[in-house]
Amino acid sequence: MATDKNAELFERARALIPGGVNSPVRAFRAVGGTPRFVQRAQGAYFWDAEGTRYIDYIGSWGPMILGHGHPRVLDAVQRAVRDGFSFGAPTEREIELAEEIVKHLPSVEMVRLVSSGTEAAMSAIRLARGATGRNRIIKFEGCYHGHADALLVKAGSGLATFGHPTSAGVPPEVVQHTLVLEYNNIAQLEEAFAAHGDDLACIMIEAIAGNMNFVRASVPFMKRCRELCTQYGALLVFDEVMTGFRVGLRGAQGVYAQAIPGFAPDMTVLGKVIGGGMPLAAFGGRKALMENLAPLGPVYQAGTLSGNPVATACGLATLQEIALPGFYQALAARTQSLVDGLAAAAQEAGLPFATDCEGGMFGFFLLPQLPQNYGQVMKSDSPKFGRLFHGLLDRGVYIAPALYEAGFVSAAHGEEDIAQTVQAAREVFKTLA
Ligand SMILES: *Cc1c(COP(=O)(O)O)cnc(C)c1O
Repeated sequence: MATDKNAELFERARALIPGGVNSPVRAFRAVGGTPRFVQRAQGAYFWDAEGTRYIDYIGSWGPMILGHGHPRVLDAVQRAVRDGFSFGAPTEREIELAEEIVKHLPSVEMVRLVSSGTEAAMSAIRLARGATGRNRIIKFEGCYHGHADALLVKAGSGLATFGHPTSAGVPPEVVQHTLVLEYNNIAQLEEAFAAHGDDLACIMIEAIAGNMNFVRASVPFMKRCRELCTQYGALLVFDEVMTGFRVGLRGAQGVYAQAIPGFAPDMTVLGKVIGGGMPLAAFGGRKALMENLAPLGPVYQAGTLSGNPVATACGLATLQEIALPGFYQALAARTQSLVDGLAAAAQEAGLPFATDCEGGMFGFFLLPQLPQNYGQVMKSDSPKFGRLFHGLLDRGVYIAPALYEAGFVSAAHGEEDIAQTVQAAREVFKTLA
């Protein structure tokens, strides 16, 4: 018999929903224990079924950049709801959201709105293939682009061999055009282009990868990606579902444009923050490229709930808040103070620790140095991470329940929240060293 309300709900959920959850990482399989069932959230906090408060460093895996229940967002959503939930016909708000996205991302002239990052990434690949007339795509080990069949693939045995499905139910034929390469490995990238460049539709990349905790593409690696795509006529697709409007107003592409003059991707995939917590995502790029989509062009793509009026109201209100002057400076400073505090606490405890952040996104590793690729990320001590996770959870701090996930700070996280988090980490680190 379950003794606590979370455990009781988990039991009920497991009887009806596979694993008790509607997205696997929520089940705490990597860290053990009972998932917290969220009752409500406000600002930087959520409360579980027992009424226990947690400082939330997941923020719905990124979207809640303003914190939960921001008054102006709430107001916009409530007004939108009264006007209708869904029409299946165009609305002015879709144009306003498109304008807001295009205004901040110089590489994006046109966008198509969809309902999830998975859908956006899948559609971007179809468009890349349709526009180039080519089949092959490159992805990198450790990057996640949603769960479309062609993207559920891991590297094959040899260098630049085609990959194997990472999920049952994906026929090998479906991933035979997906080349999986090591992140930040320029030699392998060059080899792949030399062998397959003439049939490559695109590279898809998380430039600041948040699905292997937090790993940046090096500037020389990104520069080479851009050069090779241009040279061979392949498209460089930035999956900014996580980083878009999260690491800065211009996303990860803005970070690389500062280091590489004139840098821009050919296509951008967005999600998470642009919906402000509602199901909304997008993909966009140059006008001539985007005009390959139906109804103008031969690449089919559609959605009953695409551009949903409530979701666009939520996204629009969110984007208007984050575009206010000084928003990202304040968010980045808060995030920096968190990772600095964690690093100092780890050092005090004599614990190997490496950390990095950009804007409102951060990562840390129980490793002496920041990893450069997935193989190095996976050298992290997983049982130790599990103890760290539960130590923090017991002290009211909720970080991602898996060591290969990034963390998120919102504008609602205050100095006291950061101080409380660092203090909790100080106590837990001592037990781990
Ligand atoms: C979350 C995520 C996705 C998938 O988005 P969903 O809305 O969960 O389908 C794709 N790419 C990246 C980089 C993500 O972080």
